[in-house]
Amino acid sequence: MKNLSAIVLLFLISIAFGQWGLSQEIDLLIKGGHVIDARNKIDAKMDVAIAEGRILKVARNIPTDNARKVIDASSYYVAPGLIDPHTHVFVGSNSGFADGFNSVSPDDITLKAGITTVVDAGTSGWRNFPVFKEQVIDRSTTRVLSFLNIAGSGMTGFPSEENVNDMDARITAQVIGQYPDIIVGIKIGHYRGSDWIPFDRALEAGRVADVPLLVECHLPLLPLEGILERMRPGDIYTHTYCRASDRECLLDDDLKIRPYVLEAQQKGVCFDVGHGGGMFHFDIAIPALEQGLLPNSFGSDLHRYSMNSGMKNMLDIMSKFLNMGMDLKDIISRATWNTAVSIKREDLGNLSEGAVADVVVLSLREGEFGFIDTKRNKLTGKQKLEAELTIREGKVVWDLNGMAANERL
Ligand SMILES: [Zn+2]
Repeated sequence: MKNLSAIVLLFLISIAFGQWGLSQEIDLLIKGGHVIDARNKIDAKMDVAIAEGRILKVARNIPTDNARKVIDASSYYVAPGLIDPHTHVFVGSNSGFADGFNSVSPDDITLKAGITTVVDAGTSGWRNFPVFKEQVIDRSTTRVLSFLNIAGSGMTGFPSEENVNDMDARITAQVIGQYPDIIVGIKIGHYRGSDWIPFDRALEAGRVADVPLLVECHLPLLPLEGILERMRPGDIYTHTYCRASDRECLLDDDLKIRPYVLEAQQKGVCFDVGHGGGMFHFDIAIPALEQGLLPNSFGSDLHRYSMNSGMKNMLDIMSKFLNMGMDLKDIISRATWNTAVSIKREDLGNLSEGAVADVVVLSLREGEFGFIDTKRNKLTGKQKLEAELTIREGKVVWDLNGMAANERL
C-alpha cells in the first residue's frame, strides 16, 4: 500500500512537472524547422522552445500562447550551435600568433557562420593562458575553449616555441586542472627536431590531465606512422586532407590511404579537417573521402590569413564536404555532437532539454557556387549552407535577414 501511494505521488509530480514544462514562459519559439540533433536522434520537422538561456523543449506543435517571440523556420534547418575545434583566437598586439596580430577575435567571424563554440588550438601555453583568458575568453560572446600548448608560451614562433626545456608536462597538466571548464585538451604543434621528447611530454600531460591530445602536425622529422602509433583513441589529428612539405601525406603517391592511417582510424583516432591557409587540397580530400576517411570535425584553423584565402569559415568548409558528396545530416552531426564528444564536452552540441540554448538556423541555398582549396583549385557546387540565425545562450547574436526582428509597421 505504501509503495502504491509512492507510485501515485510520483505520477502526480511527473504530470505537474509536465504541465509546468508546457505552461512556462517561452522566450523564443523556433517553429517548424528541420531539426538535426544527433545526440537525441532527431532528424525531423520540430519546434524548439527556449527559456532562460536553456532548451525548454523540442517537440512537434508546441503551442505559441506562452511564447514572447515566435520564429518561422519552416524553410530551414535547425541545429545545435556549431563547434570549431581548431582556431587561433589569442589576438593581441605582438607579431605572430600568441597574444598576436596573426590571431583573430572570435566574434568577428564565428557568429555569422553559426559557430557558438571555438577551441583555440594551442595559441597559448601554461605561461600565458591567464592573459588569453582575461583578454579574449572572458570578453567574447563566442564560447572559447582551449587546447593548451605543451610549449610554455604557446605559439611564439621559432626558436622559443621549440625550446624543449620549456615543455613541462607536470605544470601543463596542473594548469589544465585549474581550468576544467575551459581547457579541453593539449596540443603539440611546431617542432623541427627528430627526437620524440616534445611529443611524449604532450602525451604525458594529456595522460595526467585525462584530456585528448591535438596533433597539429608541423613535425617534419617525425614519421607519420610513429605519430599515429603513439596517439591514443580519442586523440585528434588535424590537417588531414593535404600534401604539405612539413609532414607525410595520409595518402600515398597512388592516392591510397596508408595502412597505418586506417589502423589509427580503427583504434579511434579522430581526424579533423584543419583547413587553414595552406592545408586543404581537393585532390587529397576527394580520394580520401571515397576511401572512407571522413572528418570527425571540420576545424577551420582560423587565423588572420586563412580566413581570407580558400578558407572562409567552418560553415563554408562544411559546404565543401556537402558538394564533395557527404550527407547533410552526417555533416551537421559531426560539426556538433561528434565534435562535442571529441573534446569531452557532452553538455554542448545537442538540443537536450536543459542544455544551453546555443542554436543555429541554417538555410541550404541552391545555385552555382565556387569553393576554393588552398592551392587555389576550384570546386563548383550546387548547394551552400548559410547561417540565417545564431543563438548563443538563448540570445540572438546573428540575424542575417531579420528573422527574429520586429516587423516594421
Ligand atoms: Zn592551427
